[in-house]
Amino acid sequence: MKLADIFCQDKAVNTLTRAFETGRLAHAYIFDGIDGVGKFTTAKAFAKLLLCQTPVNNDSCGTCESCRMLDADNHPDFHHIYKELIAFSSDPANRKKQPIDLPIAVIREFMIEKMQIRPGLSASKVFVISESEKLNTASQNALLKILEEPPNKSFIILICSKLDNLLPTTKSRSQIVHFGPLSEEKIIEKLPEVNKTEAKYLTRLTNGSLGQAEILAKLEPSFYGIKKELIDKFSKFQVADSVDFAQWINATAGQLAESWMKLKAGTSKSDLGRAAKKIFCLVLISAFSDAMKVSFAGEEKITNFEQSQQVKSIVNRFGQLGCADLIELCYETIRFIDASVNEKLVFEHLLLNCAESGIISVK
Ligand SMILES: [Zn+2]
Repeated sequence: MKLADIFCQDKAVNTLTRAFETGRLAHAYIFDGIDGVGKFTTAKAFAKLLLCQTPVNNDSCGTCESCRMLDADNHPDFHHIYKELIAFSSDPANRKKQPIDLPIAVIREFMIEKMQIRPGLSASKVFVISESEKLNTASQNALLKILEEPPNKSFIILICSKLDNLLPTTKSRSQIVHFGPLSEEKIIEKLPEVNKTEAKYLTRLTNGSLGQAEILAKLEPSFYGIKKELIDKFSKFQVADSVDFAQWINATAGQLAESWMKLKAGTSKSDLGRAAKKIFCLVLISAFSDAMKVSFAGEEKITNFEQSQQVKSIVNRFGQLGCADLIELCYETIRFIDASVNEKLVFEHLLLNCAESGIISVK
């Protein structure tokens, strides 16, 4: 993939192309934006240009040895840094760890050490750090010196979906390039395998993230079918149904995680297990926000536009203020899931609390 082929991120691509053209390249870049809008794809295309032996029109040539090796994922000067690399550490004690954040051991062994070695094929080296919002303080402090002056003409690109998580010292040493969400029409165009209603829903749920919408569209059993069932069940569930309902969510999340693993090989199993559970919270949050705004925004503007009847039942039962509380409860559940607290019971806890707040608000 060349920079010229990047989908709908013209502003970011122009910034990078101009920097290359004028020779004003930064040592370190932060590609900031929500997941699934092309940050990694752009980082790889930019790396391809930086490493290319014969660039053409401020883009990679696509045919030199460097370009061919990068496309084949075996370029000696391109390094992808991600937290799961810990499993390949030379230290057996590190290999057993399953880090939630991006540990300093990965930064030291796979980045700082590798950066000391001269480029093998191209004139420089490129290091792309995925999920850099997970770099802990120790890891970021270890990076400071090389961000300022990377040895061996290295370039560093931090892929980041939560800029606030990066230290001011990390941000001030890097050039920030923003990646915006994609428009509804553009995403629908890129999801030909699902019908327009589903594509429109996925675009709204993911806030314009093509990458996330593509994954959700491919999951089995159908994520869209599951979300419809979830909102339908929620719109009419009673306290007595909470345990069965929670079991259904856990079992279905397990199936989605299995399917997700086949699509994203290399991602940690526990991360995907958590992601599958969190998506249920996000679907409920979307339904509660819809319930709060359906009366003034209109049925066509809400995320669950095709389940407006269920959304109205939810607002009738919980009230707009009640829905605001339910959103907070869902975020609390997400925090529990992230912290691996009571994993099996989180949904039971959530649903019992929801049911209780429904009874209170009806009174
Ligand atoms: Zn080339």
